[in-house]
Amino acid sequence: MDVTLLEATEDPERVICTAARNDYSNEFVGDQPFEETMATVDGDSLEEKQETLIGHLLSHGHFGPFEHPQATFAIEGMSRSCMAQLTRHRHVSFDVQSMRYVAFDEVDPDDVRAGEMVVIPPSATDPDWVGRNQRTGSVDEDVVAEREEVFRESVSRSVADYQRLLDLGMAPEDARFVLPIGTKVNVVMSMNVRMLMHVADMRAAADSQWEIRGMTEEVLDLAKEWCPITFEYYEENMKGRKNRLAP
Ligand SMILES: Cc1cc2nc3c(=O)[nH]c(=O)nc-3n(C[C@H](O)[C@H](O)[C@H](O)COP(=O)(O)OP(=O)(O)OC[C@H]3O[C@@H](n4cnc5c(N)ncnc54)[C@H](O)[C@@H]3O)c2cc1C
Repeated sequence: MDVTLLEATEDPERVICTAARNDYSNEFVGDQPFEETMATVDGDSLEEKQETLIGHLLSHGHFGPFEHPQATFAIEGMSRSCMAQLTRHRHVSFDVQSMRYVAFDEVDPDDVRAGEMVVIPPSATDPDWVGRNQRTGSVDEDVVAEREEVFRESVSRSVADYQRLLDLGMAPEDARFVLPIGTKVNVVMSMNVRMLMHVADMRAAADSQWEIRGMTEEVLDLAKEWCPITFEYYEENMKGRKNRLAP
């Protein structure tokens, strides 16, 4: 899976701070220089003042200002299983690659065995993989070899059957019913900073599945470059805590 930051609000932390200062200001922040808006916040530089204010907002649960900046990510090759988990988040906007208008008729079923078009979970190939299911912890290599063979054979057969149905004139939107839930899909998603922290609360957590957890970590890495004070604070003080941003 590959995650890219497509677009994002410019200078998101200035937006967060301006919105937050608006709440307690007699002046109109819309036509005030940012330095003046931040004048009474502790700190020697503007950067330090932003750190002070953002830390204060996050530690006091004042999350509203984090709803203003928004980011759009493009994700390549997540499984439809992972997509079903991700799209449960109702305040994220999605565009999902269509299987009505995109037919995977060119993919070679042998390449599917190798991991093209269908995600191969680590538990299909790694004898030491420890999942949430107790039976997946360290098993015999023979057993894993058979597991891998069954998995690869099954997904490549499904794709071959799907392509045969296309050849027989079946519409892609109906032929896709035989494809596995691990079939890859490309997704574009947009969300604000508050929601991004909520998704991370739920999906970077240890009880989440490896695939969505990995995706969330990639999103967090990009978020840290885009909105550094907020996501560094989040990582150091909030990530992984039991009382999540929204239960
Ligand atoms: C480890 C894990 C296992 C899971 N297993 C299952 C499972 O077996 N079956 C299953 O169905 N789901 C499962 N889920 C999905 C989970 O139950 C949520 O549906 C999903 O994580 C979306 O999160 P959210 O409920 O916080 O809602 P979001 O859509 O992310 O909304 C964010 C917040 O907004 C508020 N909100 C949004 N909509 C409403 C509303 N209509 N009413 C009131 N408040 C609202 C809530 O405070 C919510 O927390 C699992 C999630 C995780 C992380």
